[in-house]
Amino acid sequence: MYSIAIDGPAGAGKSTIAKAVAKEIGFIYVDTGAMYRALALYFLREGVDGHDRERIAAACPDISVTIDYDEDGGQQIFLNGENVTSLIREEEVGKMASTTSAIPEVRAALLELQRGMARSANVLMDGRDIGTNVLPDASLKIYLTASDDVRAKRRYDELTAKGIACDYDQIREDIIARDKQDMEREIAPLRQAEDAVLVDSSELSIEQVIDKVIAEFEKIK
Ligand code: C5P
Repeated sequence: MYSIAIDGPAGAGKSTIAKAVAKEIGFIYVDTGAMYRALALYFLREGVDGHDRERIAAACPDISVTIDYDEDGGQQIFLNGENVTSLIREEEVGKMASTTSAIPEVRAALLELQRGMARSANVLMDGRDIGTNVLPDASLKIYLTASDDVRAKRRYDELTAKGIACDYDQIREDIIARDKQDMEREIAPLRQAEDAVLVDSSELSIEQVIDKVIAEFEKIK
């Protein structure tokens, strides 16, 4: 069984690359950020303060996050049985996910689900702590990053293409704040695993990054 871990900061292109590589090599793609986002959506709906560890920890046992795959291998994410795949992409949900993912009980609630998926199939999993914490023995670890400006520009273009009005400077600021929060939390912070291959996609096309990851996989296969 093989597992590939792709970690990196917000907007580095992890999900685009991970989805494409997984399809190419026939692995199951697991977007762990979506799991944190599903939990965050629950907390937002409940009107819980994202820093209220006591309330959030108490709520965790009542929340079930499950994953299913459509015919194209697309991940569908369910929150207590409700398909929330299209509801979790809002910036507000991403911000809440970054805050609540620092809570140990939230991470514990998802860790076994993630490890279990890697035990049952060849997976390509992306997130923040896959190579360092979830799958420390992953067959291949990639740390995918890009400059702040490039990441902000990509996010801006993505939102603009969807017809969502947004402000570049605000997006850049939000990305930097989210990374800082993810890198400075006490439990499973975002960092490059010692044995991860660093890929800086600032100057690379999507195809070039996909080829690079596949080439790295070919080396260890
Ligand atoms: O990657 P995405 O933007 O969907 O992740 C949302 C948030 O979930 C991240 O900012 C991070 O705080 C959290 N996350 C995490 N560990 C992971 C994946 C995501 O803490 N493995």
